[in-house]
Amino acid sequence: MGEVILNTWKADVPITYGAGGRKNVKALAGWGGLALMDQGVNVVNLFKAYLTAVQDESCGRCVPCRLGSKVMLDIINRIAAGEGREDDLKQLERLGRLARDGSLCELGRSFPIPLLDALEKHREVFVKAIKEGRPVPPDDCQYEKVVTAPCLHGCPAHIDVPRYVQGIKEDVFDASLAAVREKTILAGVLGRVCAGYCESNCRRNDLDNPINNRCLKRFVADYEAEIRRKPTWMTTPKEEKVAVVGAGPAGLSASYQLARRGYRVSVYEARSQAGGMLSAAIPAYRLPREVLEREIGLLRELGVEINLNTKVGKDILWDDLWAQGYKAVFLATGLPRAARGGLDGEEAGYQGCLDGLAYLEQINQGKKVPVGPQIAVVGSGHMAIDCARVALRAGAAEVYLVSGKSPEELAADRMEVGVAEAEGVQVRFSAVPRKVVGRDGKVIALEGDGFRMEIDTVILAGGQEADLSFLPPGQTNLQVNMSTLETGLPGVFAGGDVVSGQASVVEAVAAGNRAALSIDQYLREGRVTPTKEADLQELLAALPVFDPPEKAGDVAGRKRQEPEELPAVERVKDFREVEYTLSRRTAMKEAGRCLRCYRLLLIGS
Ligand SMILES: Cc1cc2nc3c(=O)[nH]c(=O)nc-3n(C[C@H](O)[C@H](O)[C@H](O)COP(=O)(O)OP(=O)(O)OC[C@H]3O[C@@H](n4cnc5c(N)ncnc54)[C@H](O)[C@@H]3O)c2cc1C
Ligand code: SF4
Ligand code: SF4
Repeated sequence: MGEVILNTWKADVPITYGAGGRKNVKALAGWGGLALMDQGVNVVNLFKAYLTAVQDESCGRCVPCRLGSKVMLDIINRIAAGEGREDDLKQLERLGRLARDGSLCELGRSFPIPLLDALEKHREVFVKAIKEGRPVPPDDCQYEKVVTAPCLHGCPAHIDVPRYVQGIKEDVFDASLAAVREKTILAGVLGRVCAGYCESNCRRNDLDNPINNRCLKRFVADYEAEIRRKPTWMTTPKEEKVAVVGAGPAGLSASYQLARRGYRVSVYEARSQAGGMLSAAIPAYRLPREVLEREIGLLRELGVEINLNTKVGKDILWDDLWAQGYKAVFLATGLPRAARGGLDGEEAGYQGCLDGLAYLEQINQGKKVPVGPQIAVVGSGHMAIDCARVALRAGAAEVYLVSGKSPEELAADRMEVGVAEAEGVQVRFSAVPRKVVGRDGKVIALEGDGFRMEIDTVILAGGQEADLSFLPPGQTNLQVNMSTLETGLPGVFAGGDVVSGQASVVEAVAAGNRAALSIDQYLREGRVTPTKEADLQELLAALPVFDPPEKAGDVAGRKRQEPEELPAVERVKDFREVEYTLSRRTAMKEAGRCLRCYRLLLIGS
């Protein structure tokens, strides 16, 4: 073992996986081919297990996959029992090609590939089994199947995209939302603010445009809210209590997954509202507060207790937290402080020099923030764009977004920059600011490499920093195991922006989910190991699940459906939501474009 005997995958295949190479791979059969790394693996046994897995996963909508794989399994079983017939291999090839070329979806089209490869490159094993006419002896290979899809793999939270899209296509919206809710309670939130990593991994990119997964997710979440239905939860209560520090998406997600497992969860949140950056920073025209509040309300109904205005380290001290009887703590405190921008004069205390995070937070609380008619927002990320768009809505006459980056480098989604420009924000790319100029205690200009702008207000929206002052004495930073999210402190886990740095909502959700799995294992077994899912994702990444040059076929023609939007001239008048929910008809039409790219992998180890 340890050497590759046969590999028909386009990529080099891993021979071990899991943290520290804990698991040996003896064989891999899946959408991209067949790999054998152990002489002891008998391919007849391997395909018995593989075709059984295909039968489990085939949805039954098309004959070549459903029936074809059944007949193929019967043939392999016959060969394995020593009753193979002379024409069995030809029959397998014929059925395999039929499924590959005639199935409706990617599962059916891809499952025959490793078997066809085996029949071409390892035919002698099948021929021998048929000739000998004896049962194929079992080998010691253990098989495990994984079902994935390029979009599912691309989503940091691994939401089962094909399943929820299929639910919409088939008009079973509650089943669709249930698929999303396996991974997140924040369906309506992500349906509005997610950057859509799944869409970058969508195979439909090869044909025309990716499936509008984000808007489809929003559609099912909004549909449930519109018909005033609520999910029902089935949990088995457990005794152990877990504390979560921070009610941002990471903390809320860990709470959700822990509460679903029956744990008693208390969240401590420094601010007066739950949601972290979702409520403090992201403006209502992108995320209406009733959407966030509804989803946080569902979490409360699940039994999660959220203590607002309770800053750990100030309102409740570290030792007092543990004295409440918590068995584990998840730190999801994000990046609550604005980072300095490094400009001369930014700390001179000039009137009109504002911190972007504080500016957004005050506006989001409905407060009036006096700003001049000419505003420069300095920064390149989400915060800078939001500050600029908010300033326009708050009545500024001219708003400049001053970014040291080129259009290609700009960290925020390019589309968001385009939206800001359409609303009237004037973007100055590759403009490196150096100095906030003041006179008589007030901002009068912003200077940089080769430019000077006469302005009344500058909003510094560069970055955010962690605040770990709540940690026990002597502890100034967090050492975190990125696989398990354990810290060096017993029973303490950490995740989200506080660990990753500025990231995204869905990455915070993924971190919360991962922490919940680790905490659950810690409370049950007193130890934490990398999750099986984490190990499998690492293996899948090596294959890879999404291969951009790969051809997705010839199905084309149906245009991507986009949501309607408030016209740009209307938008800047107030904080109404800009984007609308897809209609039922357009959502179903969009879902119908999905190619259902499930892919099956059988791992022998
Ligand atoms: C303006 C802006 C716009 C953004 N837009 C998007 C977007 O469109 N899409 C996207 O995907 N991402 C966006 N992001 C990024 C995203 O919001 C963050 O990545 C995400 O919120 C991080 O989640 P978190 O739970 O780790 O931290 P946070 O959301 O920051 O939540 C942490 C929480 O912990 C609380 N806390 C901190 N210290 C303590 C303490 N000692 N005791 C108790 N509570 C404490 C904080 O008050 C806060 O509520 C944006 C960020 C900003 C700033
Ligand atoms: S077409 Fe559908 S299943 Fe295929 S990658 Fe795109 S969203 Fe996923
Ligand atoms: S959360 Fe984001 S990346 Fe994940 S499926 Fe939804 S839109 Fe795609």
